[in-house]
Amino acid sequence: IAEIYRQHISPGQWTAFGLLGFDRITIDHAENMHYVDRSGRRILDFFGGFGTMALGHNHPRLLDVRRRFQEQQRHELGLTLPSQYVAALSRNLATLAPEGLDRVMLYCTGSEAVEAALKLAERAQGPRRAKIAYAHNSFHGKTIGALSVTDSQFYRGHFEVLPHRHAVPFGDTPALEDQLRRDPGIGVLILETVQGGAGVVLPPPGYLKQVRQLCDRYGVLWIADEVQCGVGRTGRFFAFEHAGVTPDIVTLAKALGGGKTAISAVLAGHEIHDRAYSGARNALVHGPATFSGMGEACCTAIETLHILHDENLLTNAAEQGKHLLNGLRWLHRRHPKLIRDVRGSGLMAAIEFADLSGCLPGLTGRMAGMLDRPLRGSVAMLAGSQLLSEFGILVAFTDHNRNVVRLEPPLTIRPQHINMLVEGFDDLLSQGLK
Ligand code: PMP
Repeated sequence: IAEIYRQHISPGQWTAFGLLGFDRITIDHAENMHYVDRSGRRILDFFGGFGTMALGHNHPRLLDVRRRFQEQQRHELGLTLPSQYVAALSRNLATLAPEGLDRVMLYCTGSEAVEAALKLAERAQGPRRAKIAYAHNSFHGKTIGALSVTDSQFYRGHFEVLPHRHAVPFGDTPALEDQLRRDPGIGVLILETVQGGAGVVLPPPGYLKQVRQLCDRYGVLWIADEVQCGVGRTGRFFAFEHAGVTPDIVTLAKALGGGKTAISAVLAGHEIHDRAYSGARNALVHGPATFSGMGEACCTAIETLHILHDENLLTNAAEQGKHLLNGLRWLHRRHPKLIRDVRGSGLMAAIEFADLSGCLPGLTGRMAGMLDRPLRGSVAMLAGSQLLSEFGILVAFTDHNRNVVRLEPPLTIRPQHINMLVEGFDDLLSQGLK
């Protein structure tokens, strides 16, 4: 498999595997918290498919609902001819959402949802207020529209992106207000409620309330991108619920498909749609894509919402998230030179390691043995790749900040899994220091 990847898969899609030694693993199957390789070795999944695996791998109820859908020979293209699955999912999402977010658009990926949300907001505001504010260090996707509001030179490179946009510091309301006052052309603001790609950066206390007030004061439509932090990850269905506020438009994806399917959604109030589609500007804002509202995807998403509820997974995410953060804080106290910060909201957490590229001679032991590799300088990647090889625990990283290990395990996690992760890191970091 690794050889075929090298020969036939675009390097942009697999380079990181090779760097971290992931290409030596051949997965046979996956169940709940674990991948199982061909030799029967179990790998504990703290990567969680970038937050997609909310229910764990292959939840039996999802397998069952998908099997039944196929056996009943239902039709798939739910926005070609009406489908009870599109109807039920849309109503369920609108019911789960705070009042006002009562209309749903369905797509397959997070990027598509972001594109649709931006187009909807822009059209509702009209051409004179079509400029978009977005946050420093944001990640909203790699398609050109989403890339335009993704603050990353690494992803953006030299591509021509949308010109009508302006970046503001995340978490800084005076800077946001200053910008809105100075530039009345800004009619749209897009923010990840918790910044994932930046390395799990939480909104400071009070920030989202002030964002709501500023958007109201300046007539700006606020898009909350919850592609990564939504669907229960932070212990509430929507991460913005922690702040007691409601955005104008919300994007969901990843975990909405229960780790089984690609499905995304945009939620917004009907008055925004009315404005976008009204009068002289009457044109299609963003219609369905060919695979919008696929029957099997919708019935998987409906069952995902039921399982989150029936198994109390939001409560578990909140409780285990606290246990995880306590464990990470303990690690931080034990290794203050190697760890710079730990943070998290529910089961979206991160360890930020110190940047040791300038003082590597201080490291000895197993880590030092790896210093000639391309991972040089990133304790996060060294520790993460050794955690996999020695303890069978898989964690995630982020291109934006090579010093961060990202932790987004299934919401079905139990305390013993968290203890294994914390003890594994402790063991590695203790041996890596003099
Ligand atoms: N928005 C956010 C906040 C994300 O984290 C991501 C994916 N990491 C996206 C959008 C893009 O989603 P997708 O990869 O499904 O296109």
